[in-house]
Amino acid sequence: MTNLILLGPPGAGKGTQAKRLEDSLGIVQLSTGDMLRAEVAAGSDVGAKAKAVMEAGGLVSDDIIIDIISGRIEQDDCKNGFILDGFPRTTPQAEALDAMLAEKGLGMDHVIEMQVDDEAMVERITGRFTCAQCGAGYHDTFQRPKVDGVCDKCGGTEFTRRADDNAETVRSRLGAYHEQTAPIISYYEKQGVLKSVDGMAAIDAVTEQLNAIVG
Ligand code: ADP
Ligand code: ADP
Ligand code: ZN
Repeated sequence: MTNLILLGPPGAGKGTQAKRLEDSLGIVQLSTGDMLRAEVAAGSDVGAKAKAVMEAGGLVSDDIIIDIISGRIEQDDCKNGFILDGFPRTTPQAEALDAMLAEKGLGMDHVIEMQVDDEAMVERITGRFTCAQCGAGYHDTFQRPKVDGVCDKCGGTEFTRRADDNAETVRSRLGAYHEQTAPIISYYEKQGVLKSVDGMAAIDAVTEQLNAIVG
């Protein structure tokens, strides 16, 4: 069993790399952002509470997030391990995660900080798009499909862009990262599980750095 956290601001490459690790390690990616977007799309109570906060680029309340993730890591597909993408994002979330894992006799194996420059994140986020059919991630400049308009993975021809992936919201999200999420880096440093990779490298080079850690 391997349990990982990918830490980094919006655009750092967490989702891109989590999908690759999911395939290579046979463990599941758990993205709280994806879970919240599914709640919004389903029109649930949780989605109704989260929607405006997400559109403004703020953080959804810890109670909601902890509730979503605690149910999720109980599920069967997590038994070989999981990659947390976008969680934890605050100190209370990190503490709640530790408590949840301790209860099951589990722990985190690696917490990996993806180090990037903020200025580059605006271009990454505003150029991001996703296959509507299989969820594969792309970028207008950095990761185009091999054939324009056709998903490499599934052949799908419909793509989506996130409502919050605009330059203005990215700045709020970067602010939230530095104020509320970056403090958890030292929390994991103290636990002795923190590693870091150069997230400014090309996508394949980042994957290599990650493989060297999780090997
Ligand atoms: P996050 O999940 O951390 O917000 P993503 O993995 O969605 O970030 O990446 C944001 C965008 O940047 C995507 O469009 C992705 O294709 C692109 N991207 C990811 N990693 C890199 C990289 N190392 N270099 C250039 N572009 C990247
Ligand atoms: P990013 O590409 O910025 O890493 P995510 O998909 O992880 O985006 O998150 C999108 C939005 O969902 C965030 O801006 C925030 O409003 C909300 N969100 C996701 N995960 C969390 C979390 N762990 N705690 C609080 N809010 C969250
Ligand atoms: Zn696809």
